[in-house]
Amino acid sequence: MKTNDYVINGVSLENVRNGYEFSVIDMMKKLIPEYSEFDNCPICIEDVYALSLSRIPSTYFRTNSTFFNNFEPNETVEEIVRYAFFQVINQPKHP
Ligand SMILES: [Zn+2]
Repeated sequence: MKTNDYVINGVSLENVRNGYEFSVIDMMKKLIPEYSEFDNCPICIEDVYALSLSRIPSTYFRTNSTFFNNFEPNETVEEIVRYAFFQVINQPKHP
């Protein structure tokens, strides 16, 4: 994937993000210490992130909008991220 793919008329669209991305990242950082069996490898970290975001309806904002900064992790995000850890720990996508 080339960065240029996200540019229209010189305007980068990479600053338009799913508001739940940072919520999921924050929640993953908070929960990782609880999962001693999690291997912390790049593939598994990316899989927990992707699996979590795939299960949450996406909501896109400009990162410089005030709405974006008001996005807080909630109980649903925690449940979904915990489920993703459970799935990836039990079925890692590598030997
Ligand atoms: Zn792994």
